[in-house]
Amino acid sequence: MRKPFVAGNWKMNKTVAEARDLVRTMSAPLGEIPGVEKVLCPPYISLMAIAAMLENTDIGLGAQDMHWEEKGAFTGEVAPNMVKEFCKYVIIGHSERRAYFGETDETVNRKLSAAIKFGLTPIVCVGEMLDQYESGLTAEVVRRQIRIGLAGIDSAHAAKIVVAYEPVWAIGTGKASSGENANYVHQKVIRPALIELFEADGAEAIRILYGGSVTASNASEFFAYADIDGALVGGASLKPDEFVAITKAISGR
Ligand code: PEP
Repeated sequence: MRKPFVAGNWKMNKTVAEARDLVRTMSAPLGEIPGVEKVLCPPYISLMAIAAMLENTDIGLGAQDMHWEEKGAFTGEVAPNMVKEFCKYVIIGHSERRAYFGETDETVNRKLSAAIKFGLTPIVCVGEMLDQYESGLTAEVVRRQIRIGLAGIDSAHAAKIVVAYEPVWAIGTGKASSGENANYVHQKVIRPALIELFEADGAEAIRILYGGSVTASNASEFFAYADIDGALVGGASLKPDEFVAITKAISGR
C-alpha cells in the first residue's frame, strides 16, 4: 500500500509574512485530514519560519530545488545539508527549472543522489512538452527522463523516491491532462521504467503523483485511478480552500 501524497509547490510566490499567513490558514484544516502525506514547498527564504510553524503538525516541509554540492563557490545556490536543516522533502527537476535554468536529466540525477545521501525525500518531476505530446513522444521522453534522472540509485533507497508526472503543457495552463491519459503514463510508462531500474519491490513502493492544473474540481478525476498516488499542486496550493479540498479528495477515495 502506497500512502497518498499531496505536495504544494508555491513557486516564486509569497513573502515570509504572506507565507506565514497562508500556513496559519491552512495548517489546522490540513492537519485534520487523515491518511495523506502532506507537504508544503514555499520559497527558500520562508523555510525557517514555516519549519517552526509546522513543528508539531503532520505537515511536511519541502524545498523547491537544491544544488548537489555540499558547499563552495556556487553563488545563489543552496546545499543539501542546508535544506536538510529545515526540510524533509525537496522537489527536483521541475519543468520550470529545466526550461529556465538549464537543468538536464544529468543534473537531476546529481541532485537526486545528493538528496538520497542526505536523507531527503526527493520529488522528481518528469513530463513531456506540448510538441512532444502532440507528436506521440510522451512515452519515449518520460522513459528517458526516468532512466537517466534516476540512474545509479541503490534499490534499497527506491521506496523513498516520489515521482511527479507533470506534462509541461498542463502546468499553469488550466488545461489539465485527462485522468485517463495521466493514468496511462503512470501505469504503462513510468512504473515499468521504474521496474527496469529497481527491483520490483522497490519500484512498486515509489509514489507517482500527477501534476498540472490540478484543482479542487478535477482532483477526483485523477484520484479515481489507484495508480495515481497523489498530486503535485502549483497554483491551487496557494488557495487554502482549494489545497485542502484536493487533499481531502485523495484522503476519502
Ligand atoms: C507545478 O508547479 O508543479 C504545477 C503542477 O503547477 P500548476 O498546478 O499551477 O499547474
